[in-house]
Amino acid sequence: MDHGCDCIEPVWSGEELLVKYQYISDFFIALAYFSIPLELIYFVKKSSFFPYRWVLIQFGAFIILCGATHLINLWNFAVHSRAVELVMTVAKVSTAVVSCATALTLVHIIPDLLSVKTRELFLKNKAEELDREMGIIRTQEETGRHVRMLTHEIRSTLDRHTILRTTLVELGRTLALAECAIWMPSNSSNGTGNHLQLSHSLHNRTSLGATVPVNIPVVRRIFSTNRAVPVTPTSPLAQLRMGGDTNGGGRYVPPEVVAVRIPVLQLVNFESIGTVERSYGIMVLMLPSDCARKWRRHELELVEVVADQVAVALSHAAILEESMRARDLLMAQNVALDCARQEAELAVRARNNFLSVMNHELQAPTQAIIATSATLLDTELTPNQRMMVETALKSGDLLASLINDCSFELKTSPFNLHATFRDVINLIKPIAALKQLSVNVTLSHDLPLSAIGDKRRLVQILLNVVGNAIKFTKEGQIQITASVTRSGLLLDQFVPGFYPVYSDKHFYLYVQVKDTGCGIAPPDLPHVFTRFTLGHGTGLGLAICKRFVSLMEGHIWLESEGAGKGCTATFLVKLGIDENLNGPCPLGSYCKLDLTE
Ligand code: ADP
Repeated sequence: MDHGCDCIEPVWSGEELLVKYQYISDFFIALAYFSIPLELIYFVKKSSFFPYRWVLIQFGAFIILCGATHLINLWNFAVHSRAVELVMTVAKVSTAVVSCATALTLVHIIPDLLSVKTRELFLKNKAEELDREMGIIRTQEETGRHVRMLTHEIRSTLDRHTILRTTLVELGRTLALAECAIWMPSNSSNGTGNHLQLSHSLHNRTSLGATVPVNIPVVRRIFSTNRAVPVTPTSPLAQLRMGGDTNGGGRYVPPEVVAVRIPVLQLVNFESIGTVERSYGIMVLMLPSDCARKWRRHELELVEVVADQVAVALSHAAILEESMRARDLLMAQNVALDCARQEAELAVRARNNFLSVMNHELQAPTQAIIATSATLLDTELTPNQRMMVETALKSGDLLASLINDCSFELKTSPFNLHATFRDVINLIKPIAALKQLSVNVTLSHDLPLSAIGDKRRLVQILLNVVGNAIKFTKEGQIQITASVTRSGLLLDQFVPGFYPVYSDKHFYLYVQVKDTGCGIAPPDLPHVFTRFTLGHGTGLGLAICKRFVSLMEGHIWLESEGAGKGCTATFLVKLGIDENLNGPCPLGSYCKLDLTE
């Protein structure tokens, strides 16, 4: 419609403006289209981990080509109708705005995108690391549980063999070992004790008893540390022939072997428990040869911990063993003591039997002496003969009473103390007269007439002591003195170790028998109270005297200035005061018995 053209003309005056807009838009579109691929290249370069990189590159290429198309349009610019120009202008301006906005947005987004991606990767790595750590912790927990179980197993027994056996079995299971063995110090075979002996093995019993010297370098190296030490498979400690069917007795060469020392407590015997000797055993552990397994740190730590635990359990076992041995020893000693006691009882019974037989056998002849003496007294005799027969009769009586009572028990009753001395003198007088010895008796004025005690025992002591004085004196005299010791007199100065106890009801009778006989050599003095010690005589009398004196809570001792210088026997006995009949000598003459006339 040409006629209408004129009226449109003035409106078209903005055509140049539209073209200008299109030019500008095309330029910006091209700019955006070229910058976006650059940004994508940058992004692809930076984000090496982006999974669809080739798509991005494809997209970039597509945009560049689009950009190129727009650039070409700048030369190939055609004039279109007004409507088309308008639409194209709007489209191009919009495209320019959108593409530039996209390019600008990408500039902002890419760094963010990149950092997000980096963080994602970081987190991914962290997660993997955590997974790994979790795995390790789980293995360690597992190992810890095994160690606890193992320790419990080991500690639950106090038998050395069970401890070592359990250790091998449990360690073998926990660490999946091909072999585990224990070498213990041995004192056997050559007796030197400087060898290790294979005492336990997990799978190989045929090598048990094999020995290795302790002074070889590998053993010394293991002994020097408490850590697990790697050992070459060719080392003598690792040379364990594997029993079983696979390699027909050939040498087994395990790939990975470690060894750890086990401190062993050695108690030589129970008495020397304070001085313990420390030596070491060795535990050898081998991994299987068929897998390329290597020892890991936590496995070695486990081995070290177990070695310590085994050492503790072994020391407990050693102490128990020693105490058992000591108990057995004590039991054996008790049995021996029991035997000795039974033998002693048997001897006592035999002695008692002998005494009773003797008593019985002696009674008849004694009674015969008494009877004949009594009959003789009824006949006509010279005064001298009468005195001798009377002595025989009294001696017989005394003998009869002694035979009747062989026990060492006191029989106390009131008796006439003065008369007792007179009786004793009368008994020994004939012998003294025969030996022409003078016997003087002096009883002190305060000596009670009556006392309470065992008269027969007192007579026996006096007869023995005075009898000895007569026996060991050839010439001279025998002086007998009797007095009372009261609290005022200090006895301690000449009776060491004897502490008299005074009371209102008791007194001490003090008797001294002094002779001018052969005396006693000073070295012999300490032995006179021990039976059968000195050459002359039976050596029984003083021993019995000492027994009786002790029963009477007293003391007896002998003094002599040496051979040929006479002897003084002194004794003290505790007697009861007779309340009914007492007082000093009623008759003055009675107190001095001079038997010489
Ligand atoms: P026995 O007189 O039967 O030998 P005792 O036990 O009475 O036994 O005496 C032991 C020893 O003490 C006597 O053998 C003697 O050597 C010595 N002995 C005892 N009393 C005297 C004494 N008065 N004089 C010398 N030696 C004496």
